[in-house]
Amino acid sequence: MGKSLLDKVWEAHAVRELPSGQTQLFIGLHLVHEVTSPQAFQMMREQNLSVPFPDRTFATVDHIIPTDTRQRPYADTQAEGMMSAIEHNCREFGIRFFDASSGHQGIVHVLGPELGLTQPGMTVACGDSHTSTHGALGAVAFGIGTSQVRDVLATQCLAIQRPKVRRIDVDGALRAGVYAKDVTLHIIRRLGVKGGVGYAYEYAGTVLERMTMEERMTVCNMSIEGGARLGYVNPDATTFKYLRGREFAPSAEHFDSAVIWWASMVSDADAPYHDVVRFDGAEIAPTVTWGINPGQAIGVDERIPAPESFPADEREVAEDAYEYMDFKPGRAIRGTRIDVAFIGSCTNGRLSDLREAAKVARRGHVAPHVKALVVPGSQAVAHAAEAEGLHEIFIAAGFEWRLPGCSMCLAMNPDKLVGREVCASSSNRNFKGRQGSPSGRTLLMSPAMVAAAALEGAVVDVREMLK
Ligand code: SF4
Repeated sequence: MGKSLLDKVWEAHAVRELPSGQTQLFIGLHLVHEVTSPQAFQMMREQNLSVPFPDRTFATVDHIIPTDTRQRPYADTQAEGMMSAIEHNCREFGIRFFDASSGHQGIVHVLGPELGLTQPGMTVACGDSHTSTHGALGAVAFGIGTSQVRDVLATQCLAIQRPKVRRIDVDGALRAGVYAKDVTLHIIRRLGVKGGVGYAYEYAGTVLERMTMEERMTVCNMSIEGGARLGYVNPDATTFKYLRGREFAPSAEHFDSAVIWWASMVSDADAPYHDVVRFDGAEIAPTVTWGINPGQAIGVDERIPAPESFPADEREVAEDAYEYMDFKPGRAIRGTRIDVAFIGSCTNGRLSDLREAAKVARRGHVAPHVKALVVPGSQAVAHAAEAEGLHEIFIAAGFEWRLPGCSMCLAMNPDKLVGREVCASSSNRNFKGRQGSPSGRTLLMSPAMVAAAALEGAVVDVREMLK
């Protein structure tokens, strides 16, 4: 019987089975950022430990970094403290740090793939939930907690339970104006925010096969929002082409032999799965969240669902969502007035996202009552976008063009919603208070839909704007 990519990667990296039933798994790439690492480094120091594989460990700063200025010290003393701590820790433990002067700084899940650090068949760990992003390259990638960051720093290993594998086939073709973000929101809507608990999601089907690497990253990024431990796409010619020539990818001399090994890690045709789910790409519409988790999503032409339409165990959270969002069941999501538009994050802050949003932005001007931000996912994304003149399109349309970072995805920097503001956002979480105001409201959607909402001043169907 064949094996899935997850099986193959697991077996290639298993050091031993632990009495707990977990596997001690060797980690090929450890990515570190400023928020979840200070305590881990402190624990290393207290136990007099060193990092055995500094060449497999890379750090950046993303969550707290301001996007309007890089002037030090930062106005926020806590942010300045975190920045100083990661600078110091990387120096002390011999870890390469992509700081703001490196030309590579950015959101940890944007820079890993773009530098060619993330490769097929690899195990990846990072102290951040959305590490699943790296699965787009055929890696098995885990988000981990602070004590696990210490474990990986100290041993390059992780004690972890092997997940089951659910294959999710998205077949057919997407309609114009429907993007990878709509695909992932649709999957989470249908399978639920807890539907993936205990699973790795293997994404397949013609829609995924046709996607670019950046689109696959958007889909894998949000696996965690569907409850899955990780998500991945089997590597193929698109993956190999994407990696060729990247700074940390195998050199030209070794690239072809790397491709042979990467291709050997692809799931076998007769691999067994614990579950298989199918979707028709043609049925997916531009999708918008209306509630307080990413599963509370509807097509832009649909109405907010009635409580009776939910299973009994989801009604309470639906009632909570109506109240928090101040939405009544049965009302259309389209036409909802917004105050803020945010294009960015590790879900949708890549060059292709900015290109799609710019196609919309060039058709008009941001509505007078809307504050609109574009925050590139990394310095490399910013430079590439500026080389194409995308920043000029956004600025001319009334968007603010910011410096790279997580920004308003999590609002650990000064980019925050105020009061009950409603934000059309290309990020990944619409939890209560996620964007910096305890009462702020988030509507998740694709970057093109965010740009359309910014121009209209309200949720609108991007397909009409693109006609
Ligand atoms: S962009 Fe958002 S989800 Fe992604 S790493 Fe930053 S804070 Fe986390």
